[in-house]
Amino acid sequence: MELRELGRTGLKLSSVGFGASPLGNVFGTVSDEEAVASVGLAFKSGINFFDTSPYYGGTLSEKVLGKALKALGAPRTSYVVATKCGRYKEGFDFSAERVTRSIEESLERLQLDYVDILQCHDIEFGSLDQVVNETIPALVKLKEAGKTRFIGITGLPLSIFSYVLDRVPPGTLDVVLSYCHYSLNDSTLGDLVPYLKSKGVGIIHASPLSMGLLTQAGPPQWHPASPALKSACQAAAAHCKEKGKNISKLALQFSLLNKEITSVLVGMKSVEQVEENVAAARELATCGIDEEALSEVEAIMKPVRNHSWPSGIQQS
Ligand code: NAD
Repeated sequence: MELRELGRTGLKLSSVGFGASPLGNVFGTVSDEEAVASVGLAFKSGINFFDTSPYYGGTLSEKVLGKALKALGAPRTSYVVATKCGRYKEGFDFSAERVTRSIEESLERLQLDYVDILQCHDIEFGSLDQVVNETIPALVKLKEAGKTRFIGITGLPLSIFSYVLDRVPPGTLDVVLSYCHYSLNDSTLGDLVPYLKSKGVGIIHASPLSMGLLTQAGPPQWHPASPALKSACQAAAAHCKEKGKNISKLALQFSLLNKEITSVLVGMKSVEQVEENVAAARELATCGIDEEALSEVEAIMKPVRNHSWPSGIQQS
């Protein structure tokens, strides 16, 4: 598995990262045994980056990931763990007091002494000025205290990243995690890459399958996409199937093509999905992407290209 450098952190992440939200039963029930086996196979296959949050499954994802990482029996320095703060089953709280307490709770669930990356989770749901003036300074203190090695922010609207990065002292943030913006249906993150690089932050792209839109099985009930976007993705998946091709493989490979993105976080809930996604990355490295399938899918997606959905509160 290819390793790529994450901004100026010195961390080298596998180009495919393990998104652990499915371990919180967000995409259907996953047994502990399947979770442990999936994480184990991912690690053995060269995936060294694992992302979770206290929000996923109301803390379940962190607990299950902690158990699975422990079962690896591998040196702590051989894998990179990212979690988040500020978003919980109970709601959002980006106060310094809450995020400071949050990391202690996360470390206990993960059975770790520190995480590698701590991110403010979905900041568009809070006051961005609070994130700049209160949350990030609290995260800096947690970094100084050794609870996390690096800090970052996550969210859906791309405008949140420049709002924050333009207002914090240079070098404060190490990472941004964007999701659903570098996939077959939406590649708008690509336009922001030069700006993010100028700020020296590492770039993580999550949800290459657009949270299930780009799968044969289709998205979960809660998926926020418009009916038009859902049906275009379904049409693209059906087209691939008819041609004996796999939309999820094509989607992951498309995201992996952009080398400015350090790691592509795909949510995995079974050994079979780990096998498929690792194989997709290997095939891309040796054979390249299926250009014919890519252009056919892009043509089907054209009417909904770069369509997203609202997320967060109106900022003043
Ligand atoms: P995703 O696009 O990775 O899709 C996940 C869905 O695709 C799940 O249903 C999974 O079972 C399925 N899947 C995985 N591999 C497959 C394959 N080979 N074939 C068919 N289906 C397959 O969406 P995601 O899980 O939401 O995103 C990935 C990860 O990124 C999350 O687990 C989380 O760690 C992170 N993330 C973070 C944020 C944030 O911080 N705001 C937002 C979204 C995602």
